[in-house]
Amino acid sequence: MKLTTAKFKQDFLAEIKTLYATELSDTSALDQLLALGHLVRRYDGPNWTKTSARYCQQDQKQVYYFSIEFLPGRLLKSNLLNLQLLTTVRQGLTELGLDFDKISATEPDPGLGNGGLGRLAACYLDSMASLGIAGHGNGIRYRYGLFKQVFMDGYQVELPDDWLRNGNVWEIRRENKACLVHFGGQVWLKPTAEGQLTPVYTNTEDVLAVPYDTGIVGYHNDVTNTLRLWSAELPPNADQIGTSQAQRDRVDEITKVLYPDDSNSAGQALRLRQEYFFTSAGVQSILRHYQRCHHGLKDLGQKIALHINDTHPTLVIPELMRLLMDDHHDTWEQAWALTTQIVSYTNHTVLQEALETWPIDLFKDLLPRIYQIVVEIDRRYRLTKTPLFGSELVNRTAPLGDGQVRMAYLAVIGSHSVNGVAPLHTQLLKNDVLRDLYQVYPARFNNKTNGIAMRRWLQLANEPLSTLIDQHIGTKWRQQPQLLQRLIAERENPKFLAQLAAVKQQNKQALAQYIQQNLGITIRTDAIFDVQIKRLHAYKRQLLHVLEILREYVALKADPHLKAPPRVHIFGAKAAPSYHYAKAIIKLINAVAELVNHDPVIGDRLKVVFIPNYGVSLGELIIPAADVSEQISTASKEASGTSNMKLMANGALSLATYDGANIDIIQAAGTANEYPFGLTAQAVYDYYARGDYRANDYYQSNAELKQVLDMLVDGSIPGISTEGREIYESLLRYNDEFFVLADYESYVQQQQQLSRDFRDPVKWQQKSLANIAAAGSFSADLSVMRYADDIWHLRHPGIQL
Ligand SMILES: *Cc1c(COP(=O)(O)O)cnc(C)c1O
Repeated sequence: MKLTTAKFKQDFLAEIKTLYATELSDTSALDQLLALGHLVRRYDGPNWTKTSARYCQQDQKQVYYFSIEFLPGRLLKSNLLNLQLLTTVRQGLTELGLDFDKISATEPDPGLGNGGLGRLAACYLDSMASLGIAGHGNGIRYRYGLFKQVFMDGYQVELPDDWLRNGNVWEIRRENKACLVHFGGQVWLKPTAEGQLTPVYTNTEDVLAVPYDTGIVGYHNDVTNTLRLWSAELPPNADQIGTSQAQRDRVDEITKVLYPDDSNSAGQALRLRQEYFFTSAGVQSILRHYQRCHHGLKDLGQKIALHINDTHPTLVIPELMRLLMDDHHDTWEQAWALTTQIVSYTNHTVLQEALETWPIDLFKDLLPRIYQIVVEIDRRYRLTKTPLFGSELVNRTAPLGDGQVRMAYLAVIGSHSVNGVAPLHTQLLKNDVLRDLYQVYPARFNNKTNGIAMRRWLQLANEPLSTLIDQHIGTKWRQQPQLLQRLIAERENPKFLAQLAAVKQQNKQALAQYIQQNLGITIRTDAIFDVQIKRLHAYKRQLLHVLEILREYVALKADPHLKAPPRVHIFGAKAAPSYHYAKAIIKLINAVAELVNHDPVIGDRLKVVFIPNYGVSLGELIIPAADVSEQISTASKEASGTSNMKLMANGALSLATYDGANIDIIQAAGTANEYPFGLTAQAVYDYYARGDYRANDYYQSNAELKQVLDMLVDGSIPGISTEGREIYESLLRYNDEFFVLADYESYVQQQQQLSRDFRDPVKWQQKSLANIAAAGSFSADLSVMRYADDIWHLRHPGIQL
């Protein structure tokens, strides 16, 4: 939108007066943030209203992206960027004597997600709006997010993440659009005069689902879509004397906290209640909205698409069946045809422990009508597929089996598309995790490689680099990140390479300053910033990175004049509170940091920095400053990864296993510009098949590795106690299932190679440039267009390729 600086200043001062009845000088940065937020919403208001009206008038197909997590990060800057107001507002605030970045930094990160899964959902919402696709999010408004992480004596301590404490300017509570969700009780089917059956519910526990809507602003296109998040409340008629505190608590509990683990199936009744709560409310409100613009439901299949992000929203399938049959009197056949036409599913993991299942007894008690429907889905699946595929395969793949409701199987059977998130991952789904169902429904399986919102991860997070890019290839790449490819023309341009190095220096200084101010650690910005930021999990192998740090430490101690560039190892990672082993690794990293950072022999040549409370906003600070991107998961375990893409776009070189999207990154940027190493997925599978991995052999045969491992247990690292022994035993005595030791040698070789390469700044910057130039193919806009074309069957304005 168009806005002069003068008009903005006038509006802002008026907003301050209205909200606070005082002068600007009397307000805090937080007050100013809220005033700005209100103003941005007012500026965007007409777009939001018009977008909804237009979708209805033009009868556009709507996509609803169901996800139990969204991790959008701060919205002020990104909304301003997308509304074309960032420069005006920054200028206006400066003229008023205010610091825009300081105001922006007071905005809390929404506590609505754990990591990659939620961040992907947020990137896709941003892309859908920016492409002009009618796509909306549906999820849960958690009162408390994932914990706030602090370290005490090197241990992770979890404090509540009270992100809504000061309110949330971006959301609108819409109580008039609330829905009732029924839990428990009994249900029986009563014959009607027309010879049908209608369910009668008794003794149900009813919960009111109240939506809070947030506008998702498209980039320079006047489109604003909706993220609808549900909050659980007592129904109005129940909110009276006679409702016990325990009943109130049971309702409050549903949307109170985010489960702090997305890589284990949380086998808790509360999690199942959360899942049904937001899927039921979402599907109810979608059908209600649909009927406002249409007569009857007969075209529903052409007009809506429901996408489920991992299995947590799988109950969309039986819930849609329930509403179509019980409320709209469709036959089973009609309802099933519509449901499978409408629903599509993305799988995010190959880890067995992350495949969701629910004990049938729990499921049946909590969701009696939904259970009846799942039983019928199961019965019909068995009936139709057994003659074709035999009873063994059908038993293995039916929605009900081993006393469990198997969510991934239900999701495949009840949808028309199942996608993995990187080529290797999709291949593993077909060959391994969902192999049997792939036999039954081969045409449903497809790949959609993840992508990232370049607007946030490059344009906003790295303004210096973005400006430099503009100067050389113009600004069109901001709409079409694939045009970054044109930067390759600068490969032999020494001036450009020097500018690229200067931008990286500037970003490293900003990070160094944060680290100095918040952690009191001084780091050299001419050091290699070697970055690993992601959830802490054994399969992501932060431990391999720690072994390298110990190796570097030992080498420096042995030869203080060693010729090697200085290094700063930077970690950001939260461990799930119940994940004991991950927390032991956190303690180990902090203890190693303590040892290394205070050793006078080492000085400033090696530093270890574990930045607490990693999240989107810290990512935006760390990623532009990274030289090296550690993507070192055990091959086959990381479905895609997306921090690998963010780091690539910001010019970091990948030190990576052949896993997930690393493979595609290495291919896109060229092997010569990355540092690949380690076992392939096939080699890992072969080890599992033969059962002949012997971690001990590596310990025995590599003296350097032995020395480093012994440090875990011989008192060399004073800060650790039992953790060192525990990790040592897990690697050796319990024969580590993640093959850390098998990959140690090839990892160290690449670490040494990149150290040598770093000493040649021209060569290094050329590699960095190759990464930036190739990053455009990982834009979430492209991923979302592929979903729109192949899965959702949408017509959309798209972008030129
Ligand atoms: C991108 C992102 C992730 C995902 O990181 P991976 O390395 O792909 O696991 C996790 N957390 C945050 C805050 C992110 O921005």
